[in-house]
Amino acid sequence: MLTKKQWEVCLENFAEMFPDAHCELVHANPFELLIATLLSAQCTDVLVNRVTADLFQKYKTPEDYVSVDIEELQNDIRSIGLYRNKAKNIRALSELLIESYGGEVPANRDVLMTFPGVGRKTANVVVSNAFGIPALAVDTHVERVAKRLGMNRWKDTPLAVEEKIMRWTPREKWTDTHHQIIFFGRYHCKAQNPACGECPLLPLCREGKKRMKVVANE
Ligand code: SF4
Repeated sequence: MLTKKQWEVCLENFAEMFPDAHCELVHANPFELLIATLLSAQCTDVLVNRVTADLFQKYKTPEDYVSVDIEELQNDIRSIGLYRNKAKNIRALSELLIESYGGEVPANRDVLMTFPGVGRKTANVVVSNAFGIPALAVDTHVERVAKRLGMNRWKDTPLAVEEKIMRWTPREKWTDTHHQIIFFGRYHCKAQNPACGECPLLPLCREGKKRMKVVANE
């Protein structure tokens, strides 16, 4: 397993490789980020941005989402996976925002997690990016990178990954680290064909060493 000292080396490398890592979901306010993040489940940010470019022109407030038929909203997001369920959740959370929060997105992860379709990852993304509250959302990239490096065991849950990374990373770095690991996983340590041969973390990475041994033996 990775040691804390080795994790610090990882953090330095993530920051050096991706100093400008940021949230790639286009949004202009917390409400748009909440909608975009909800839409991004099991879907790429690129596709979400393509859809929200028009969506956010048409729907600007929670009232706008509840003023149309559900079929119309489904149709507006139909190129996104699970669009029926996502449309239902957008409608339900818009109603909740109007009824209980004056139409404003609350800056509180635990409250957000009570919203329809909003899990821990989505809530963390919203509070950190929209409100500047340090948080560390574990998505598929963060989970894969942490497990490949040996930061976590393969059987660990996303919550266990989140807790370990938060424990070993200074709080003020949580949000930047989250973006940097996502970029590292999206553009370097990809699910298929990670760039182990040119990875600065290879000397300490259990998965990378295993993969390079296999390549050497081929
Ligand atoms: Fe990912 Fe390979 Fe680098 Fe390990 S060595 S972090 S598996 S790219």
